[in-house]
Amino acid sequence: MAKSNENMMGKKHQDGVVAARLCAEEYKNNFSDLHPAYTPFEAAAAADRCYFCYDAPCLTACPTEIDIPMFIRQIATGNILGSAETIFDQNILGGMCARVCPTETLCEQACVREVAEGKPVEIGKLQRFATDKAITENVQFYQRADATGKSIAIIGAGPAGLACAHQLAKHGHQVTILEAKNKSGGLNEFGIAAYKSVDDFAQNEIDYILAIGGIEIKTGTALGRDYSLDALQQEYDAVFLGLGLGDTNNLNLDAITLEDAVDYIADIRQASDLASIPVARDVVVIGGGMTAIDVAIQSKLLGAENVTLCYRRDQSQMNASQWEQDLAASKGVNLKYNLQPENIDAQGDALQSITMRYTNSVDGKLVATDETISIKAQQVFAAIGQCLASDLAEMGVALEAGRIKIDENGKTNLDKVWAGGDCAAGGDDLTVSAVAMGRDAAKNIHSNLSQ
Ligand code: SF4
Repeated sequence: MAKSNENMMGKKHQDGVVAARLCAEEYKNNFSDLHPAYTPFEAAAAADRCYFCYDAPCLTACPTEIDIPMFIRQIATGNILGSAETIFDQNILGGMCARVCPTETLCEQACVREVAEGKPVEIGKLQRFATDKAITENVQFYQRADATGKSIAIIGAGPAGLACAHQLAKHGHQVTILEAKNKSGGLNEFGIAAYKSVDDFAQNEIDYILAIGGIEIKTGTALGRDYSLDALQQEYDAVFLGLGLGDTNNLNLDAITLEDAVDYIADIRQASDLASIPVARDVVVIGGGMTAIDVAIQSKLLGAENVTLCYRRDQSQMNASQWEQDLAASKGVNLKYNLQPENIDAQGDALQSITMRYTNSVDGKLVATDETISIKAQQVFAAIGQCLASDLAEMGVALEAGRIKIDENGKTNLDKVWAGGDCAAGGDDLTVSAVAMGRDAAKNIHSNLSQ
């Protein structure tokens, strides 16, 4: 098999990090749909398990407040497109959320059947069943209101920006989305493990959203480089910042910058041939969130023999859900806790191992112990969080804890400027929360423009 230490994007990799470790069939199997879609019979049986609770706890656990008992009842009565409309009324990205939402910590955790029997109604899979039908058949439920003559600029074509754009277009406003990357979708396109969204679903969903009309997307155009916030404020009636967290926190050990987990996940998602993505036999991932889990699992699926995920605190403090941790373990990832990186052992360009130091929590503080462990690794990923890419503070945008400060309506400190999604304070790095923030900011923009 062909070996290379340069992937299809032209990125150099360390010695021992090679492409094409598996055969074509193995790649196909490893990266197939994580949750295969329901058949109509399976969906009807799953919908029948719902009690259609009054004051349903699943509904209040959903950040977009989808009427879950209603859409499940519609599936149970054979009204699948009506069910999709119920979902899209609250969340126009309900198809992607059905695939990537951590339902086990949101609606399904709250489901009374989870509480009573430990087996919730499979809300996420039912949501996918309904929305897939509408998107596949391109059944549109919304028409634009008469043109208002107002125009809005949205920065970022990710979940928050798209949800905001659809809501504004529905009200008859003209929307221009400015996206720095050369492809739309944001986190949905670049930041999600490949097995969670197969068959180019993210782009299909965007096409479905844009079909409402009145939304133009300009890719390859970046804030601060190609235009200023000030110019947008002058040119448009309102501006929405939904630019996500474009930079990653780097980790340097012994003058070696560790490989960026976010970039690697994006490379896997954009690869036309997974055999072109190099991976080491021994991989270490540093971090405790979804990105760490995603890169660890995908390294294993690309053919790494040993993948160790090291988190510096104890398991209870890990951001990744128990379900995600269990998924990683089921794929053969070795999860280790209370370990922080100490130094890298390399010979020339080739990484050999990483030394990790054990930690303890003392009175809530992380304390290094005297013990260390050396873990063999030719590839080490840092997945230790992301931060804002643009220097928004210099543009006059007030920040809070490194994100854009907003009020309860998503309004920033600047005239005519709103924000939402991961770039805004209160964003919790979930697609569904970004959708809710984009949608709600759009409602407030519309109400302001209607005065
Ligand atoms: Fe159905 Fe569970 Fe929601 Fe009740 S809590 S309405 S059973 S999905």
